[in-house]
Amino acid sequence: MELQTFSCPSLSGSLLFQAQCHICIWKKCQLYGSDAGIGCLQKLSSSKKYISKSSLFSISCSYGEDVEPFVPPSTQVFDGKIIYCVAPAMGHNKDSHPECHLRVPSIVSALDNMELTPKFRGSEIFDLQNFKPATVDDIASVHAKAYVAGLEKAMDQASEQGLIFIEGSGPTYATPTTYQDSLVAAGAGISLVDSVVAASRIGKDPPTGFALIRPPGHHAVPKGPMGFCVFGNIAVAARYAQRIHGLKRVFIIDFDVHHGNGTNDAFYDDPDVFFLSTHQDGSYPGTGKIDQVGKLNGEGATLNLPLPGGSGDIAMRTVFDEVIVPCAQRFKPDIILVSAGYDGHVLDPLASLQFTTATYYMLAANIKQLAKDLCGGRCIFFLEGGYNLDSLSNSVADSFRAFLDEPSLASKLDNPAILYEEPSSKVKQAIQRIKHIHSL
Ligand SMILES: [Zn+2]
Repeated sequence: MELQTFSCPSLSGSLLFQAQCHICIWKKCQLYGSDAGIGCLQKLSSSKKYISKSSLFSISCSYGEDVEPFVPPSTQVFDGKIIYCVAPAMGHNKDSHPECHLRVPSIVSALDNMELTPKFRGSEIFDLQNFKPATVDDIASVHAKAYVAGLEKAMDQASEQGLIFIEGSGPTYATPTTYQDSLVAAGAGISLVDSVVAASRIGKDPPTGFALIRPPGHHAVPKGPMGFCVFGNIAVAARYAQRIHGLKRVFIIDFDVHHGNGTNDAFYDDPDVFFLSTHQDGSYPGTGKIDQVGKLNGEGATLNLPLPGGSGDIAMRTVFDEVIVPCAQRFKPDIILVSAGYDGHVLDPLASLQFTTATYYMLAANIKQLAKDLCGGRCIFFLEGGYNLDSLSNSVADSFRAFLDEPSLASKLDNPAILYEEPSSKVKQAIQRIKHIHSL
């Protein structure tokens, strides 16, 4: 892939976007990331141990009492095992950019080719269409209103110029449709929350949700866009689940290869939203150090586990069993949301982990089971990264198989010959350290 240096000419000096300045050229980002932005997070002694304050005192809350029951959009939803939304943002595109408009269609076409759509599966899989875009109020539950208004206004400029780069957004482009496309992406996530929660309320195993959406969201900080991300789709959905459905405790798992700094920042002092991120050590944007554990009442409710480059399937299976499971069990969530990035795949061009299709199948199957064990099966995946269209599509398709309780096709899709030995002693050290810090 050709490397590019982004410039930010069109909004230079503008106060429309107040994102922290994580200036980073593409070349540098993809190889090493930067340490910009760490200063906003509280650095804490690695010798301290943390347990989420609220987890010590919590009663596993189900629903607020004064919440109006949600009317399900269709009874078909409740017969199925998967409910998904498609929001491909076709107008939000830059040629030869990895976060391009081909990503979601390539997933949809793989699902179709592998007979994982309603056409082949009847009511087992439901494609939720005609969902509403998120409202400005929905977005403003996470982002500054000035940012939302500023982005809408910037669409005029994007219309004149075709494509603009957003100052200090490390780097994020915008086209004339970016604002609307981003509202639609966040709206898809919200609609899946509605459907999954409605299904769980009528006492059946709810389907697992999957938001096949872009632009992605987990880097977008409360004050602006960042790292190809415009609105924090998963953060908006978490706040919506709390506000509209009275689900108090939200557990977010982020297995994208990059740190979900936007989600991290949105809930850094919040004891009711547990943010757990695994990411490649040293990758963009350089945040998510192991001792960044949350602050104030949220101290202990953020878990950041940087994994050494080369970590793969063995590392992630151990992390799941020894870190993710005990953490979720202790937190007692009401819903699990997942920032599902597929850029940790060994074939992905933006990073150097060694996850395989089998790793993503394992994660999907195990997270679904975790949600069943802990929170009535309420679980929704949100697409984040993943830039090799083949490995992205195959991995999402195999995740669908996991949700359907069907065998993985990973042995046919993965090529073990391209894998090399994982850095097992470094991984072990990282896991021991995180278990010590979080008393797991
Ligand atoms: Zn990523």
